[in-house]
Amino acid sequence: PTRAESKTVKTTCPYCGVGCGVLATLTDTPTGPQVTVKGDPDHPANKGRLCSKGSALAETLSLDGRLLHPTISGAQASWESALSQVASRFKQTIEAHGPDSVAFYVSGQLLTEDYYVANKLMKGFIGSANIDTNSRLCMASSVAGHKRAFGTDTVPGQYEDLEQADLIVLVGSNLAWCHPVLYQRIAAAKSARPAMKIINIDPRRTASSDLADLHLALTPGSDVALFNHLLTTIHEMGAVDSAFVAQHVDGFDAALSAASSGEVQATGLSANELAEFTRAWIGTEKVVTIYSQGVNQSTSGSDKVNAILNCHLATGRIGRPGMGPFSVTGQPNAMGGREVGGLANMMACHLDLENAGHRATVRDFWQAPTLPEAAGLKAVDMFRAVGDGRIKALWVMCTNPVVSMPEADRVKAAIANCDFVVVSDMYGDTDTAKLADIVLPATGWGEKTGTVTNSERCISRQRPFLPAPGTARHDWDVLAEVGRRMGWQAEFAYESPAEILREYATLSGLAAQHGKDFDISALSDLTEVEYDALPPQHWPLTKERRGGRFFADGRFFTPSGRANMLPLHHRAPAKPADATHPFILNTGRIRDQWHTMSRSGLAPRLNQHMAEPYLEIHPTDATTLGLQAADLAEVSSAHGRAILRVLLSDKVKPGAVFAPMHWTSQLSSAGRIDAVVAAEVDPVSGQPESKATPVAITKL
Ligand code: SF4
Repeated sequence: PTRAESKTVKTTCPYCGVGCGVLATLTDTPTGPQVTVKGDPDHPANKGRLCSKGSALAETLSLDGRLLHPTISGAQASWESALSQVASRFKQTIEAHGPDSVAFYVSGQLLTEDYYVANKLMKGFIGSANIDTNSRLCMASSVAGHKRAFGTDTVPGQYEDLEQADLIVLVGSNLAWCHPVLYQRIAAAKSARPAMKIINIDPRRTASSDLADLHLALTPGSDVALFNHLLTTIHEMGAVDSAFVAQHVDGFDAALSAASSGEVQATGLSANELAEFTRAWIGTEKVVTIYSQGVNQSTSGSDKVNAILNCHLATGRIGRPGMGPFSVTGQPNAMGGREVGGLANMMACHLDLENAGHRATVRDFWQAPTLPEAAGLKAVDMFRAVGDGRIKALWVMCTNPVVSMPEADRVKAAIANCDFVVVSDMYGDTDTAKLADIVLPATGWGEKTGTVTNSERCISRQRPFLPAPGTARHDWDVLAEVGRRMGWQAEFAYESPAEILREYATLSGLAAQHGKDFDISALSDLTEVEYDALPPQHWPLTKERRGGRFFADGRFFTPSGRANMLPLHHRAPAKPADATHPFILNTGRIRDQWHTMSRSGLAPRLNQHMAEPYLEIHPTDATTLGLQAADLAEVSSAHGRAILRVLLSDKVKPGAVFAPMHWTSQLSSAGRIDAVVAAEVDPVSGQPESKATPVAITKL
């Protein structure tokens, strides 16, 4: 091809929260346009790297299975009739039953501009806080932990800290498979500087254990006991940063007292293992503790986060190069959704729903008729309310809860029986879309335009290089039109995502006047051309400040400006194994698939990694059950069942099993593992315990 026949667009990977920059090149060929992708060497997240999923993106752009027109009751319909019905049914339901009778369930894969309009429509104009997101399943416990300790949901550090650290502690995080480019960056740093140490804390040995100097296979759910033990040892060894604590931290004595209650035996770790861990952590100043779903997806997830934060606060190891706690988010825009107020208990720009002054700022800015004064229903409770009829109209965007929610069969029945369900998706045949009254075709990666925020607070552009297929529309555009049709003409008169980002950035400047961290007001007067050219940038983005770490100055976002250490006690997972359900089921990702596989499942080479849903089980347990490798086993709980291929592995301990979360009922009729997972939730964050469900296993 000549240069004139190719164009290269800088965009961002649509999968995980690492947020890698991608160069997508579209070339006209005699057989039609072809796309190739490679890592963007100029993007700060990946510096040219991509993982297996990112490098296979070009194989996922086929139009097979794409939804090209709206459907009403399964029949093709016009946008005019579909949107008219969406607006009128939501309006009628609200008039008849009040604003809390409707709900939006959205996604960490929406772009920030989509998310902003959805949140504004629900909280500002419909007047309910019943908007929650699949990020509830992902990092709600980190949000709660950050808010309790710091006053805001703030990630203190940035990725370069991972390379500058002398010790990386991975807690409940299979970074090698779930955030592969971060893992590659750490592996490269360790190779260049072999003295760098890595400790992997995970009940299961994973691909991330390969790089680790020490793997601690603690008892599932015992992270609070482990980090409480670390805190007491920090104190006993005289390693508390007393000056930092005196000047900047509240709650040290109570946290230490609770930590000293001797629960460390709950970890199941030997004295030698504990000593090696505490010696390394305490003896290394530059320590980054990375944590992910093994911490968050737990009925004590928020406490686990705070137990980690307690240790960093007690030692003053936060906000400085090469040290700090680091929550890595699962989804490409989980952070953007948190910032924009996409969770039922948050407001835009990290403002608090329960705070009258914060509400007044948002209400005045939006010219909103009303704002809810309390949190709405979090995901698990939201689907319970759909099931018992309290929610009568539901709009699901960019996510597939019939596969991904715990107790997925109950969620399926709830959606099937709901009076009115709208689904916005790229595909019309997902398990959730098949139950909808109205399905709206959405644009996807390569077609959409907007911004996302990754795990290190870097805002990047997703840019289009393909036309929208059929009549598919952008989510922000559809939401805004429904807002206008519901009667709020001026408030939803958006014509471009840049206009939405400008409004959001202006609001963030007002939020910052309440002492909040999220301030991107430097973007409030971006022109369309500047928006198109926006380079990746870390927030805060103000006239005075561009990016950087938080808390190096010891100033936190609580009313007192001081951080909080919390008194915490170990709590075991909600349900122990028993004679009927003697195994503990852990669920998670595999390396080459993403969520419910609607995109990654289209790439042949990604399907070669793990071709079907499987159950990782210890050989000793398999022998007891009469199972051999490649047999089919039924996994069942009080909530449902799945049938999986047996994979013998000593990476799981006897009594524990692991199954991947990705398979849908189209791909494997009984592979939906979340039908088995219990919907027990953390009482603070509402995040479900996706890693510790008691199950029975039988040979088929
Ligand atoms: Fe995409 Fe994550 Fe892989 Fe980067 S590490 S290419 S963001 S899936």
